[in-house]
Amino acid sequence: MSYVGRGVTDGEVGGGGDLEAGAFGTWVTQMRESIDGDHGADVPCGTCTACCTSSQFIHITPDETETLAHIPKALLFPAPRLPEGHVLMPYNERGHCPMLIDFECSIYAHRPMTCRTYDCRIFPAAGLKIDEPDKRLIAAQAQRWRFQYPSTGDETLHHAVTAAGSFLRDHVEMLEEIGLPTNTTQLAVLAVEFHDLFIDQHDDGTATTVRLPDVQGVRVELTRRVDARRRR
Ligand code: SF4
Repeated sequence: MSYVGRGVTDGEVGGGGDLEAGAFGTWVTQMRESIDGDHGADVPCGTCTACCTSSQFIHITPDETETLAHIPKALLFPAPRLPEGHVLMPYNERGHCPMLIDFECSIYAHRPMTCRTYDCRIFPAAGLKIDEPDKRLIAAQAQRWRFQYPSTGDETLHHAVTAAGSFLRDHVEMLEEIGLPTNTTQLAVLAVEFHDLFIDQHDDGTATTVRLPDVQGVRVELTRRVDARRRR
């Protein structure tokens, strides 16, 4: 999230033309690494601050001590259903993050990992649209991204992520049973994270075709991976 600089206002977001999102295969690899916590997302946000002004609760983990040291304690509250020490930073009456001052992140060098890994390209990647009224700035920005497909593998990967997005959107009860969140943002993140379940691969790991797995198979594999992630 957030660019250091003048922010984009309601009138500007979505008003511009297409934005280059990069080669799909490269992007999806980097996004999965970002989800795994290997590094932050490298998003060419330009002057956009849509994600900092869209009524989002920012999750901060206990080990983000540098970040926590730069946010007034009064702005934080315990995150529901998460272990002690996990906190949320709410938005103000305008739907803005309280650390956004004059449309600049006032703690940019110390911003939360949630902000470092946020990438609104996940929505066009997963073929999912945000329809919450208070997220319209993100929705407008997300629809401007255009991926490139330098090889057929890039196209297959995008079809797989889109197939995963549609499948997850149509099976939210299954996700709720597993204990996964089901808002549009989380569905898009899960589609990127688990899109490999929707592709057949060559022995060398390159994608070949998109397949539609059976619901029970996805349930078992998602449960296994989520359990493994929770134990980490
Ligand atoms: S801390 Fe607030 S202002 Fe800074 S990047 Fe995150 S959401 Fe934006």
